[in-house]
Amino acid sequence: MVNLRIPGPIPVPDDILDKMSTQMMNHRGPKFKEMLYRITDGLKQVFHTENDIFVLTSSGTGAMEAAVANTLSPGEKVLCASIGSFGDRFGKIASVFGADVTRLNFPQGTAVVVDELRRVLDANPEITSVLVTHNETNTGVTNDLEPIARVVKGEFDKLLLVDGISSVCSLPLKTDEWDLDVVATASQKGWMLPPGLAFISMSERAWAANEKSTMPRFYFNLSEYKRYFDMGQPPWTPNLSAMYALDYALTKIVAEGVENVWKRHADIAQMTRDGIRALGLEVFPDDSVASNTVTAVKMPEGVDADELRKHVLQDHNVVLAGAYGELTGKMFRIGHLGYVSTEEIEQMLDAIKASLPKVGIGV
Ligand SMILES: *Cc1c(COP(=O)(O)O)cnc(C)c1O
Repeated sequence: MVNLRIPGPIPVPDDILDKMSTQMMNHRGPKFKEMLYRITDGLKQVFHTENDIFVLTSSGTGAMEAAVANTLSPGEKVLCASIGSFGDRFGKIASVFGADVTRLNFPQGTAVVVDELRRVLDANPEITSVLVTHNETNTGVTNDLEPIARVVKGEFDKLLLVDGISSVCSLPLKTDEWDLDVVATASQKGWMLPPGLAFISMSERAWAANEKSTMPRFYFNLSEYKRYFDMGQPPWTPNLSAMYALDYALTKIVAEGVENVWKRHADIAQMTRDGIRALGLEVFPDDSVASNTVTAVKMPEGVDADELRKHVLQDHNVVLAGAYGELTGKMFRIGHLGYVSTEEIEQMLDAIKASLPKVGIGV
């Protein structure tokens, strides 16, 4: 059995996987309408929101694009607070769609420093909106979103767009309490689902921005999604198979309790970090910002992380993730989001332990 330990796609539990083989239905019929409304209720519980939420047939990047294209306009001044490659992607989407993007980059492995954010917003009053990643999957760092939102919304009253792709459902995120305008996430991360769906929430403030927004949009035009939602339909043909799985997965998540799901992720992450340190390896970010969905592990100087990953895969059938950009080869990443058992973590740690001597590390 393969132990797939990458930060998405995640292994889908068998009972959820089974729902994928349900026969197709009319996506403009009464049964679909019931399912869509049930799903949306479940998503609202997980997002901790009363805001509108839409189900998109796309990967997470589509929801990031939807966030940008539905609220901003070409030439509009936007701040992208980035702590890694997914943060950079958010800013890139905004600039491709014509926004005037100011970048506030923090060093790899660290989180957004709220005082810096405040300084930049103070110095640039023409900025209307802020883009931020909740959990930077490439470095295994979680931003403390609540104080960030307090500055962006409470102190400066800007629009706040959040990439919560690898956090929503796994890490504490409270859309309404923290006043997050747009939150985007994707099925193959913490939701125990296959890839193919993305979810996006829109606050009233986001809808007000939408009315003024002139960026081009068609497939991801959320006002069309809203108009069709009121009829119990999607604007376009949805990924029904994944929605059947989502419908069922949400009943499990709600029955377990969203707070308990967060706790389960925190426990598994702690076990992972402790196990990595017991092997003499280093967790890349500081504990105060280390993610509970993905652990980035730094290799000792001169040891190739990708070489280690190769042995772990060939000899033990454990799939670890590499790192992107300037971190390539210097780190590997462990995904522990969705449903993860302690046995799977133990087996992964054993596989790494057995492979370390092959890359010249004594344990
Ligand atoms: C996975 C991920 C993305 C990209 O999602 P896709 O589904 O691959 O498009 C964006 N941001 C973060 C934080 C992610 O973890």
